[in-house]
Amino acid sequence: MDRRKFHKLLGMGIIGSMGALDSFSESRARPGKVMSTRVKWPSQTYRRLIVDMHVPDWDPVLLSRFDPEDYVRTIADAGFQSILHDAQSEVGLCLYPTKVGQMHAALKGRDFFGEVVAQCQRRGIHVLGYFSLMFDNWAYQTHPDWRFLPEDGYDSTLEGPEGRYGVVCPNSPYRDYASACIKEIVTGYDIDGMFLDEIFWPGVCYCPYCTARFWREYKSEPPRIVNWDNSAWRQYQRMREQSLLDIALALYRTIKQIRPITVCFQYSPIFDSWLRSVPLELNQASDYAGGDFYGGPAQYSLACKAFDSLTKTHPYEFQVGAPSEELFRLSLKPKDELRMESLVPTLHSAPFMLIDGILPDGTLYKPFYEVFAKVNALVARYEPFLGGDLLADVAIYYDKESMYDPAEKGVHVSKLKAVDRVPHRDALFGIGSILREAHIPFGVITNVTLEQLSRYRAVILPNVLELTADQAAQFRRFVEQGGTLYASGPSSLDRFDPQGARFLLEDVLGVRYKGTLGTVISYFTPKDDKVKEAIWPQLHIKFGGPMIRGEALAGSQVLATVTLPYVPIESEHVIGSHFADIESDQPALTPGSDPALVQHSFGKGRAVWLAAPLESSHSGSEEVNGRLVLSVLRRVFPGPYYFEADTHPSVEMTLYHQPDKKRMLAGLLNMQQQLPPIPVEATVRVQVPSGRRVTRVVSIPEQKTVPFEKAGPYTQFRLQPFDALAMALVEYE
Ligand SMILES: [Zn+2]
Repeated sequence: MDRRKFHKLLGMGIIGSMGALDSFSESRARPGKVMSTRVKWPSQTYRRLIVDMHVPDWDPVLLSRFDPEDYVRTIADAGFQSILHDAQSEVGLCLYPTKVGQMHAALKGRDFFGEVVAQCQRRGIHVLGYFSLMFDNWAYQTHPDWRFLPEDGYDSTLEGPEGRYGVVCPNSPYRDYASACIKEIVTGYDIDGMFLDEIFWPGVCYCPYCTARFWREYKSEPPRIVNWDNSAWRQYQRMREQSLLDIALALYRTIKQIRPITVCFQYSPIFDSWLRSVPLELNQASDYAGGDFYGGPAQYSLACKAFDSLTKTHPYEFQVGAPSEELFRLSLKPKDELRMESLVPTLHSAPFMLIDGILPDGTLYKPFYEVFAKVNALVARYEPFLGGDLLADVAIYYDKESMYDPAEKGVHVSKLKAVDRVPHRDALFGIGSILREAHIPFGVITNVTLEQLSRYRAVILPNVLELTADQAAQFRRFVEQGGTLYASGPSSLDRFDPQGARFLLEDVLGVRYKGTLGTVISYFTPKDDKVKEAIWPQLHIKFGGPMIRGEALAGSQVLATVTLPYVPIESEHVIGSHFADIESDQPALTPGSDPALVQHSFGKGRAVWLAAPLESSHSGSEEVNGRLVLSVLRRVFPGPYYFEADTHPSVEMTLYHQPDKKRMLAGLLNMQQQLPPIPVEATVRVQVPSGRRVTRVVSIPEQKTVPFEKAGPYTQFRLQPFDALAMALVEYE
């Protein structure tokens, strides 16, 4: 099917509608226009593009060859359905005639943005406006008092080797400037939406506006020492988050007052450490979640699940960079990698936005668009079948308040060494990979979407550093009513209790907090036969850090204990050869007695606690750790699950329920890292809603009938070897 024919089918309404945002989208009849929009924005717009255009104008050739007609035609011909186009860029120059800011010199009386909007409308492509917040070199240079001010001054920006980015502070009058520009854009152009990028802190700001705001709100000087046990430090962190949320909500309201178009703020930095301070509540200012990711399959998979939980309306948007080197536009990811990454959102029934970049003279590098066209043609084949509700048994709890390292304490803010060391995130991504590779259906819930807990039957608290009493009460109720809870390390610890630190979930876990045990190395030693079997033939699992010392309470079962090194690492020394083995870290010959793994029943449910986050991606040998974690989880939560899959661990499976169509969509994506991927086959087992009978299984997009059989509570079928994506619809009556 060629693109034209495909578009025709879309126009006839053959594509399935996800319907969530129909109020924003319409095929606007524009008199005198050649074509009308054929898919709804944003609910049916799956293939999206942004061409970054962060090009300055000090040299007259810069952007001078920009040709809106050729630009939009190239993009449309490659099969994209929407363009996010720069109205302004990170260099701060506007690509439309502005009365507020500074126009890019290449405009010379033209209106690049307006011409692109008109060309998109002619071709029936949705067009959105891009605006870079905070990252604005023109504002940085023109208004020095608006500048983001690090504690050690501007030198690192002005004199540093990578001093390209001028960042301004959202607490300065920059707020009014950005608002005025955005008003101009939204008033002046008939666009489908705005995307506001770069809303995060590059560091901690100590500008006069931030200082004054902190005095006004907290009656105190902004603290310089990072200390998570200090209330002033926490207050300053809260103010930084609130500052971003304030500007986002104000701009959201401003745009909505002018036009009922979609608004989306860059949301990907929610996975960054505390330093960026992007609050999850930023989702209140976005009609849908959207953001760019560069961290590979484990991150993409988890990000999609988090967006699924956090987005205000479906579908959310997953952005994928085209260059293989982020800072080299003329590089391109290998086509198999680009295909796999573009199919991650398809696997999650979500649109993808590809990120390309303009060349300095304002032209597109066209050979890339031949590759993009192939990716788009492939993605398009699946679109008519996408949509539905993600079905998952296990929720991973992502706690935004735990995105710091408690060990980096008492350090001056200008002397931070390991700001990106985030133990909670390591455990979060670690458990995500373990579940994905084992094909256990999982989703993500967060501290702002905890009410979604009731959709799941088990929850994992991976090395969660913070919990409020309210949140703990929700987890307690969940277990009481029959749920399963897995918690590792300090999860549920309240270290601010005046009576001393304690687990808020002590009664649920069956463990009392007693402090920590060990220093740089500790060992997990099985006691129970099943746990011994899980890590066999190993005797212990080594963990690179201390474990939590717990006391098992009456009624709980200790399945493993903590063993300390043969010689405390800090007391080892060369003189006298005081150690057990010169080349190896050795545990004590006798296992310790402090619990490392505790199982406990609570109400109608069960809990299991590990003294260390062995699921963490940085906790040592991932293979044996994964085996242990899975055996622990399966012991307390044996299934059956929504689905099972016998296939290679690099394959991720998802299942979406489309109750209105009485069918389920099973998707399997081959995410092998070594390219080209070797085709793999899969045997899949899916549960349909109780009382329903499967009538047909159909492979997608071929729509061929697949033989199926009953296997216990599941419907089982086989998928032929696939090198990218395999999908099947399971229809029931
Ligand atoms: Zn500031």
